[in-house]
Order: sequence, then structure tokens, then C-alpha cells
Amino acid sequence: MKSGGNEILATLTPPVTISLENEKNPWLAAAARFDEAAMRLKLDDGMSKVLRTPTKELTVNIPVQLDDGRLEVFTGYRVQHSLARGPAKGGIRFAPDVTLDEVRALASWMTWKCAVVNIPFGGGKGGVICDPRLLSDAELEKLTRRYTAEIIDFIGPERDVPAPDVNTNEKVMAWIMDTYSMHARHTVTAVVTGKPMSLGGSRGRPEATGRGCMFVTLKALQRLGLQPENSRVVIQGLGNVGGMAARLMAAKGFKIVGIVEYDGAVYNPKGLDIAALQRHRHDTGSVTGFGGAEDMDRQEALFLDCDVLLPAATENVITSQNAARLRCKVLCEGANGPTTPLADAILADKKVFVIPDILANAGGVTVSYFEWVQDRQGFFWNEQTVNERLEEIMVESFDAVVG
Ligand code: GLU
Repeated sequence: MKSGGNEILATLTPPVTISLENEKNPWLAAAARFDEAAMRLKLDDGMSKVLRTPTKELTVNIPVQLDDGRLEVFTGYRVQHSLARGPAKGGIRFAPDVTLDEVRALASWMTWKCAVVNIPFGGGKGGVICDPRLLSDAELEKLTRRYTAEIIDFIGPERDVPAPDVNTNEKVMAWIMDTYSMHARHTVTAVVTGKPMSLGGSRGRPEATGRGCMFVTLKALQRLGLQPENSRVVIQGLGNVGGMAARLMAAKGFKIVGIVEYDGAVYNPKGLDIAALQRHRHDTGSVTGFGGAEDMDRQEALFLDCDVLLPAATENVITSQNAARLRCKVLCEGANGPTTPLADAILADKKVFVIPDILANAGGVTVSYFEWVQDRQGFFWNEQTVNERLEEIMVESFDAVVG
């Protein structure tokens, strides 16, 4: 079986086995993990079939006139994995390497994630194959609005509620909400979450995924008898999840010793000044060359001796090829699917405390749920209420998972 393509049917024959050739295919990785869980739960065959197969998959081809007058066609997907517990919930990502298999995997992980934190949603995900860095704001807006128009019968507050994901943000959510509302002929705030606050967004939503990572990391350290003060943390990704986690964890006393980005990595054993590093990256376009740290190789940075490693970028960062070299005590999966199943087995042997993605990064969708509730009530909570309710859910879910 080739990995990474769309040639694999949604219905695979269980049990799926993962090899060196296919370990990086997220849909196979998701199916293999599902099969193992189903086996452990002694789930009957019929129920296994229902739960491992995405309910609906939509592929759309979106024509967009670019600024230079050329007409381009972009391909996008929206997959609803399960609607059993409520409307599908999950982000939309814009990236050049999006595949249908990836969107399927991400949609199924959303189903399990919403169930882990016990919020009344199923799982969905969307993706558009494009490189947003090469598109102007006007082109991105056209692309987003046309994509929304193509999936408009699929989504809705009671059906499927998109949110931000890799390379999408509150501005993109506002375009989706506006396009949907134009068609509905009235304002429908609850059709997306992660919106700007002025358009029905929730307080605390931008920080929620990073904050949730912090809450579960605190719980893991407690279990291991470690203190957050001076615990050394390496974070991969300085975007919404990694950047927020870094700031919040530093404020709690953690020492953020390493930051890894696609443009390089920086290290300071005494702890990095995250706000200053973000300013430096904003001004220069890179984390490297930062006065308060030394540059280092971005692969090697993952193997730094640390207490917590927090991958907060994309899939397949920790694989069979590098898992043995990790030197963290806790691996907090801020990204979706950063660890392949083969790597998971190596980490289990090494006794690394892994906080799986469907728990670790569930803070984002939890506050998305709060946003959806607030939109539907037309009554908005203060930030303290959002953060306290988030902490309660993350702590309860951690205890339920770890036992
Ligand atoms: N994209 C985020 C995730 O993967 C958030 C999804 C949401 O809020 O619906 O969990």
C-alpha cells in the first residue's frame, strides 16, 4: 500500500498493520489504533465497522480567479467521521500537502477527542490543498468563500461546525460565517467557532489549546512526582498552539529551553524569553539569530535532554526512525498525530509518559464547544469562567484516561 495518497478506500479490512512503508499514512495510523482499541474493548464486529468508517466525505474543486487574472482550481475536502454524539466538529486546514487520507484521519481523531472530553459533538475535518503563503488576502478570501459555498449544505450549527486548524485563523472563520449567513439570510454565529470576539467568538478560545496542554502536563508531572518550577520544556512549533503553550507554561514557572520551528531551532538551558523570541521572529521571519539563545539543528533539538517535549506542529514528527533518541520524560502531543504507531511502541518501551493528542490538545475544541453554547444562548461568559470550566474538563478527562 502506498502511503500519503488518496488511493486507500475508506473501508479497510481490519486489523490494519503498520510497517516502515506505511507508518506515515495518518489514515492507516488512525485505523490501526482504532483496531487495537476495538480489540481491547472487545467491540463487536458490526459496531467496529460503523465506528471505523467515515460517515460522509465531500470533495470539491474550487475555481478562483487570482490577482493576476489567471483562473486556478483548488481541491478541498470536508469529511464527517461520526455524527452519533452530535454535529460533526473539527477544523479546516489550508496546506499544500493535504490529502483525503489525512482529512479522514483528522476527522476520526476529532470523534475520539470530543468523546474523551465528553462534549456533545461527533468528528469532522476539512482541508484545502493550497499554499496560503503564496496567496494574497483577497485570493484567500475568495478561496474560503467559494469553498464554504461548495460545502454549505454539509455544514451548519446542527450539522457540522468548522473551526481553525493549520494555517487558518479567526479571519478565515469570519469569512465562512459571513458566507453562510448570506445564504441563510440572517446571521448564524454558531456555524463556526474560533471567530473574532466581535462576531460571537469566545473569550479564551485563542489560548485554549495551549492552556489545555499546560493543564494536562501539570497533571502528568504531578503523577511523576515532578514540580513544574524549573521543569525543562522543548516545544516544536511557535504557532497558535505552541506559542500559547510556551507563554502560559513559562508564566507558570516552566523553563522553556528549546523552540523548534521549520526555519530553525534555538536553545537556552536557562530558559527562553518567549515574548522576545516571538518579536524577533516577527521582525526577522525566523527564530534563528535570536540574542537570548544559541541556534541549533532542528532535528537534534528534538533529542535535547528535557522533562517535557511538546510537538505542536503537524503529523509524523516522531517516527520509528527517531523515537529511540528522545530524552523527554513526558511527551505532550499538542499537534494531531505527531507520533506514528511504530514510534508509540518504542516510547512505551522507554517508559515515556505520553499524553495522547486526543486528550492533550482537546482544550481547543472544548472552548469551541463553549463558544457554540454561548452563540446559541446569545449570552457570553467572562474569561475566568471559560478558563475554570476548561480546567475542570481537562483535569477530569486526564483522570478518566489515566485512571
Ligand atoms: N483544529 C482544532 C483541533 O484539531 C480545533 C477543532 C475545533 O475547535 O473544532 O482540535
